[in-house]
Amino acid sequence: MHATARELQVGGFQPFTTVDFPGHLAAVVFLQGCPWRCPYCHNPHLRGRFSGGKLEWSAVVAKLRKRKGRLDGVVFSGGEPTLQPALGGGVKEVREMGFLVGLHTTGMFPERVLELLPELDWVGLDIKAPPDERYDLLTGRKGSAALFLRSLRYILESGVPVELRTTVGGKALGEDDWVEVQNWLKSNGLPQSKRQDFRPV
Ligand code: SF4
Repeated sequence: MHATARELQVGGFQPFTTVDFPGHLAAVVFLQGCPWRCPYCHNPHLRGRFSGGKLEWSAVVAKLRKRKGRLDGVVFSGGEPTLQPALGGGVKEVREMGFLVGLHTTGMFPERVLELLPELDWVGLDIKAPPDERYDLLTGRKGSAALFLRSLRYILESGVPVELRTTVGGKALGEDDWVEVQNWLKSNGLPQSKRQDFRPV
């Protein structure tokens, strides 16, 4: 049996953003859980699978209903939203309400990304480092570069618009590696990554 949207563990809700879904006014739904351990994580309270706020999915739906006609879309973010098997149900429900749907992801679950793509209007995909052993060092998980690469391939093949994003400086990626990320993208005929400067929490 498939997980339903009611099972989503919601860690937060942002009613209005102009920057998290390019070109659109959107709300952001933050989902709980992330198994990676980036040292610069800005949302450590969202890393635990069940340790977040107690916002029920039905409360999120009620908030979105009130904003129909005022928002273009809804972005699912995290944590890592694709960790939750119920995400597909949530995406579907939001689409049925008439909203565009965006996804912020690291790509750590490529097959879930692949399943979701037909229902998505935009993806913000992190590229955390040059895709080699430096990637795994930064995320604290072996094999994370390969997972990112598989998700990137699925997204590019789908034709869904994607924005690559990289956090640079401080405890995140160093300046030399940042240049290498951009060079790697260029040499593979891919768009440049959007820089996000590290901010101490
Ligand atoms: S992938 Fe994102 S949520 Fe997970 S630890 Fe890294 S920065 Fe935090």
